[in-house]
Amino acid sequence: MKVLISVDMEGVTGVTHPDDTMPHGADYQMYRRFMTRDADAAIKGAFDAGATEVIVNDSHMTMRNLLLEDLDPRARVIKGFNKPMCMVQGIDDEVDALVCVGYHSCSGAEGGVLNHTLLGKEVQNLLFDGEPIGETRLNALAAGQFGVPVAFVAGDDTVCREARTVLGEDLPTYAVKDGIDMLTASCLHPQVTYEGIRTSVADALRGVADRRPHAFPGEHSFAFEWNSTTIAETCAYIPTVRRSGPRTSEFRTSNMTEAMQVIVAQLLLAMQVGNVDFYS
Ligand SMILES: [Zn+2]
Repeated sequence: MKVLISVDMEGVTGVTHPDDTMPHGADYQMYRRFMTRDADAAIKGAFDAGATEVIVNDSHMTMRNLLLEDLDPRARVIKGFNKPMCMVQGIDDEVDALVCVGYHSCSGAEGGVLNHTLLGKEVQNLLFDGEPIGETRLNALAAGQFGVPVAFVAGDDTVCREARTVLGEDLPTYAVKDGIDMLTASCLHPQVTYEGIRTSVADALRGVADRRPHAFPGEHSFAFEWNSTTIAETCAYIPTVRRSGPRTSEFRTSNMTEAMQVIVAQLLLAMQVGNVDFYS
């Protein structure tokens, strides 16, 4: 069994504030250790369940957060950015299960700790066929194209609910904290979550044969609602992307690999042109 573990940071044990997740934040160095521990617990859980190969993809911001020497040496780690499949780099049809750790809820999710979709400031919503989706569903769609199911999601209680709503109420999840506000949560201790993630991942992977890939063959629409008219304008310079509203850019594709690449290209443009303090 080959397992891909995608590790984001906002849904890591104890994380509640941008200072915890941004490389120059006051508590970032501590919380990247917490992120590494949550990831290590998932790796160990995967091997407990009989995995023969585990790939870990660092999926947060610079994608250079995980402390390699503190992770189980049986796993390989993909670090750095750019990478065309973004949060699910390493996915292919040899992978048997996608495990999501440190995940957070969709932009605008009430009570979701550090809720956002891909970029906290620039992206108001990412729409799939007109419906807002979060990173969990986007990555599930990308994995689904390769026939790979999501086996497990860990993060705050809101992303766990979101994942079960989208991927099935029987999806195994583990909440490391319960959100009170976007910047506030009631948190479990890292020793508790380490055991919780390890045993939950192991149980989830033992039952992975029951999970179905989140695949939607055929052509679909992806649209970004940006916070800025200039971002929408610039994204429409990409040949397959059209401006479908003052602050909206949209494209259609039947290929999730292409979808991820066009999404990543737009995010890079948005970070470049959207960096205007007041006007949007
Ligand atoms: Zn994220």
